[in-house]
Amino acid sequence: VDRMAISTQNGDSATRRKPPPAKRRETPPSSDQESWEQRSTEGDAEDEDEDDDYDIVKITNKLPKGVDLQSARQILNDIVVRGDEVHWDDIAGLDGAKKALKEAVVYPFLRPDLFSGLREPARGMLLFGPPGTGKTMLARAVATESNSTFFSVSSSTLTSKWHGESEKLVRALFGLAKVLAPSIIFVDEIDSLLSARSSGSEHEASRRSKTEFLIQWSDLQRAAAGREQSSRDKKEGDASRVLVLAATNMPWDIDEAARRRFVRRQYIPLPEHHVREQQLRKLLSHQHHELSDADIQVLVHVTESFSGSDITALAKDAAMGPLRNLGEALLHTPMEHIRPIRFQDFEASLYSIRPSVSADGLRKYEEWAREFGERG
Ligand code: ADP
Repeated sequence: VDRMAISTQNGDSATRRKPPPAKRRETPPSSDQESWEQRSTEGDAEDEDEDDDYDIVKITNKLPKGVDLQSARQILNDIVVRGDEVHWDDIAGLDGAKKALKEAVVYPFLRPDLFSGLREPARGMLLFGPPGTGKTMLARAVATESNSTFFSVSSSTLTSKWHGESEKLVRALFGLAKVLAPSIIFVDEIDSLLSARSSGSEHEASRRSKTEFLIQWSDLQRAAAGREQSSRDKKEGDASRVLVLAATNMPWDIDEAARRRFVRRQYIPLPEHHVREQQLRKLLSHQHHELSDADIQVLVHVTESFSGSDITALAKDAAMGPLRNLGEALLHTPMEHIRPIRFQDFEASLYSIRPSVSADGLRKYEEWAREFGERG
């Protein structure tokens, strides 16, 4: 869906308990039917509409002056409560990144009293690396594990001409994040928002939303670092528990000043041998298959430069093998007559599913990581 999708995973948040009325009245998309129905039956006994309106009014009342209510409502109405929460265990490998995120975000959000002064957490963290390596999954897991409201924004949405007044949207985003704290603002494709290829040719809307983003982010950092928040600030939410998590496949496109603001820059590399094995085994775990340990070792070996999403794509394609051979007969073949997935299915799929990152491409990430990043 090409619009700002913001989901809250905060069980305590008013918006979680009661999605905005306008959204709930819509016909549910079929793929999301179950969670939708679950949500809309929650609290059916109460007069929901009144409560819902009250929640929105309560939230928007706390917003600082200057935040456009229409934009705030737009953001709230686009809140997507996704049922498919991500937990640490769903993510293969990346132990160093998980540890860094726990220390930088999850623990400070759960125990703010312990993380002040020298232990004051960073306000922003950049996850960079090849596409499909689990950056988005990590951000979602952070939100789940820290009980935070999760704002998932793609830069292209913020700079889109469709939204026209993108600065208003940015302001509302940060305003709401404070009110609904603890919050994670996750910005995917941050390179296109904070691009170095700017000035002359830059689109006006992009330039304005970039500037506004940097201003809002600075305010957040200042308020959080100061800690002696004024009563006005407190009324407007808790700036110390809002964190910007950003992801990019093109870290070299971020301009230098913006890059420096991400004190933490975490490299999310391609999966190593044991991680590919872990992921393949997990993907096959609930499947009817005939792959031996030796077969799996071969697959781990030949998927050397595959990303996590390449491996998922490979396994999905191979899993289709037993059905492909059936042709039309699949329409009336009973489940128990479908043959298991075999090594040959993977062999066949390896012709079409190729790694998304070339050796050259990979070198570029490694170099950037050496110069500007943390590993793990
Ligand atoms: P990125 O944000 O780095 O481009 P995503 O987090 O969106 O990548 O991952 C895309 C898909 O690839 C995921 O939905 C998942 O199926 C698979 N995937 C990628 N990395 C991993 C991983 N480390 N463990 C498990 N699955 C992964």
